[in-house]
Amino acid sequence: MFAHKYKAKMTKCKDKPHPLGIFRYCPVCGSPNFVTNNEKSKRCADCGFVYFFNPSGATVAVIVNERDELLVVRRAKEPAKGTLDLPGGFLDCAETAEEGVAREVFEETGLEVELCDYLFSIPNIYPYSGLDVHTMDLFFLCRVKGTQEAKAMDDAESLAWIPWEQIMPQEFGLLSVRKGIIRLKMMWTNKK
Ligand SMILES: [Zn+2]
Repeated sequence: MFAHKYKAKMTKCKDKPHPLGIFRYCPVCGSPNFVTNNEKSKRCADCGFVYFFNPSGATVAVIVNERDELLVVRRAKEPAKGTLDLPGGFLDCAETAEEGVAREVFEETGLEVELCDYLFSIPNIYPYSGLDVHTMDLFFLCRVKGTQEAKAMDDAESLAWIPWEQIMPQEFGLLSVRKGIIRLKMMWTNKK
């Protein structure tokens, strides 16, 4: 059953526009003969350079306080500006996903992550600067020091602690985060 599902997704991916469609010239020699190599890569017909397009790693932090409230942020920037989100962001080169989620949580909320546990992953498409950036969002349950000291910084316009029963998935603008919220609410309900 799993194999079947996987195959169906692969076919769907092939039908989409090429992820490198807006890359018209070879980034090495500047040739306009930068052509489709396969559904994930383009190749320069002149210098032979091949570029593969793979998802960018990103993290999502699930932070719950002692009153069983979830920390949510309001997005200060596009895409999905003004909608609810969870702290997190793109991974930097050479950092671990655990370091990345801790760095993003600190940058956005000022909170220090003491411990984090990987939960699950959901792929997403993040439109930025005319390019559909494909991401692989890694969700982590994070334990932080001093939850009362959280303050909105960086990409967060404001933040709030919201009880699970008041969390509305449709208020979360990014699709992967909305799907994650639905899954997390189910996990929280089953735990009770
Ligand atoms: Zn070239």
